Amino acid sequence: MTAASLARAEPQWGPAQAGALNDRYSGRALDALADTLTDPAFGATALVSSFGADSAVLLHLAAQIRCDTPILFVETGWLFPETLRYAEDLSHHLGLTDVRWLSPLQATLDEKDPKRLRWSYDPDGCCDIRKVEPLDRALTGFDLWISGRKSHQNRARAQLSLFEPQGTRLKLNPLHNWSADQLRAYAAQHKLPPHPLVADGYPSIGCSPCTSRVQPGEDPRAGRWRGWDKSECGIHVPSEPGNDPVF
Ligand code: SF4
Repeated sequence: MTAASLARAEPQWGPAQAGALNDRYSGRALDALADTLTDPAFGATALVSSFGADSAVLLHLAAQIRCDTPILFVETGWLFPETLRYAEDLSHHLGLTDVRWLSPLQATLDEKDPKRLRWSYDPDGCCDIRKVEPLDRALTGFDLWISGRKSHQNRARAQLSLFEPQGTRLKLNPLHNWSADQLRAYAAQHKLPPHPLVADGYPSIGCSPCTSRVQPGEDPRAGRWRGWDKSECGIHVPSEPGNDPVF
């Protein structure tokens, strides 16, 4: 089965196509990455990056294939200054030519988070207006997006597959089965600059009010939304068959 036979003239993806692609690319995640970035049968493809602790590996892999890959980066208004500088420096280092900085709508912030305190009493709502909505807007016109999630990051991600449907789009997780050691080895081999906060005790980096240092032995994402029953921002919430995309 070819990718072309899986796609329509205007690709619209679902669980059946995701399953077939998982069979087709079993054990060949990097081929899947190359094909989704170069084969028009997959439709328009973007890569979503947080420019966080592990982001350099996937961005480097994509840059080797296409330096003009659209990179979607959500600047929530609460990112660490170190992350903003890292996004600029790493984009330049890798020669990425189409990094799109996304922002929440000012009118929405004025209405729903005028005091910039929503993160402290309603982190789900804060993520909705600062992360989910801006990304949803930016994904308009894309058929497939690439994510850097790894199954070792936390229990919620343990069952990650290479391809997964999300609404009418397809999501590719090319690093889903990479271990932390593999990521470190790849970054060292290619001399990729690390996020400056990793050495300061942050193995997972999001917004400053919702990210804390992680102690030895803790889950790498234990410092995200510490004290809340929350482990994802909503961007990666899976959709149920027949439902609209959940962003
Ligand atoms: S991670 Fe925290 S500050 Fe950032 S959007 Fe979500 S709740 Fe708001």
